[in-house]
Amino acid sequence: MSSFQFTLLGTDGAARRGEFHTPHGVVQTPAFMPVGTQGTVKAALHRDLRDAGAEIILGNTYHLFLRPGDELIARRGGLHQFISWNGPILTDSGGFQIFSLAERRVIREEGAEFQSHLDGSRHMLTPERAVDIQARLGSDIAMVLDECLSYPATRDEAAASMQRSARWARRCRERFSQLSAFAQATADRSASAEATADRGAGSEVQVSNPGQALFGIIQGGVYQDLRDESAAATTAVGFEGYAIGGLSVGEPVEVMYGVTGQTARGLPVDRPRYLMGAGTPEDLVECVARGIDMFDCVMPTRNARNGQLFTSEGRINIRNARYAEDDRPLDPACGCYTCRHHSRAYLRHLYLAGEMTAGALNTLHNLTFYLDTMRRIRDAIAFRTFDTFRQGFLRSASRLSLDS
Ligand SMILES: [Zn+2]
Repeated sequence: MSSFQFTLLGTDGAARRGEFHTPHGVVQTPAFMPVGTQGTVKAALHRDLRDAGAEIILGNTYHLFLRPGDELIARRGGLHQFISWNGPILTDSGGFQIFSLAERRVIREEGAEFQSHLDGSRHMLTPERAVDIQARLGSDIAMVLDECLSYPATRDEAAASMQRSARWARRCRERFSQLSAFAQATADRSASAEATADRGAGSEVQVSNPGQALFGIIQGGVYQDLRDESAAATTAVGFEGYAIGGLSVGEPVEVMYGVTGQTARGLPVDRPRYLMGAGTPEDLVECVARGIDMFDCVMPTRNARNGQLFTSEGRINIRNARYAEDDRPLDPACGCYTCRHHSRAYLRHLYLAGEMTAGALNTLHNLTFYLDTMRRIRDAIAFRTFDTFRQGFLRSASRLSLDS
């Protein structure tokens, strides 16, 4: 049985301050989840993530399924134990990577057939299999398998894809219930000291985290009526939380904000709302203003490795010659290890020399900036000063991109 529980602590306009409980701890919302694709956030130690204020990280099912494999991870006691992160973990379903990374994919009603981008091996990911894999990984929050639409898509394409995603969501929920019931029955049996193992449905899956929750995903592209239909179908199935998928895929930012706000308004107040794959620091602030509680994005980590840094004074491209003899910290307002110990001049040197510490130091700073921003957002909502915070944040954001 899922032990997931979301509590709405307060609101300021449409912005929400809350927290959710998982088997591995509590997460304050609005929350940003650093992306740990292969069971690690690139160039960051778990210890440093904790220090930077990360309460939950994300793992990618597609990558972990292909390498080292979900069954191997289950035999190690699940993802938390395998990677030694004892805080909450969310796993995606693998759908997005099948659409963006895998080769020769064929989507049928049954599921998605694809070839691994690593070795060309053929695999079939069905909604049921996506649930099974995430049960073995034992994340605290699993996601349903959805069909990811490319942008732009016609209304007919978006409608067909959204309806298939809704059918897949039902299948995911049924499989999830089956595994939960089996895990519960097994726990009851061992509590009553009965030794015989049942061979019923779900017995072939080693469930690593019986308290796991399952989130549904709202699709429908940029068509609001389809988004509304998707929200109605998905909430009718019933999930512990709801994600908005298929945005931040190339549509204009105003469209993204518009669809996010409209869709969030139609979702249950007592469940967390997760905007998948967004975004820039401004996107986080703007989408919190529209009722979003959870975010994930590779931007802070990927940009860090490319020398693009977010600061309270603007975006910095550390390669730029203007930093060659700049002895100031990256961001005077930041308390991270990088900013407390190193100068822009040194960070530029490390980057140009191709040193691995450049990636590590830059990643630590960018993640700290994102997580600090979330902390400031939460405080502002709690004090009901979110709108003032938002105006100030966007003003400083508009001074950004000094170097681009
Ligand atoms: Zn810093």
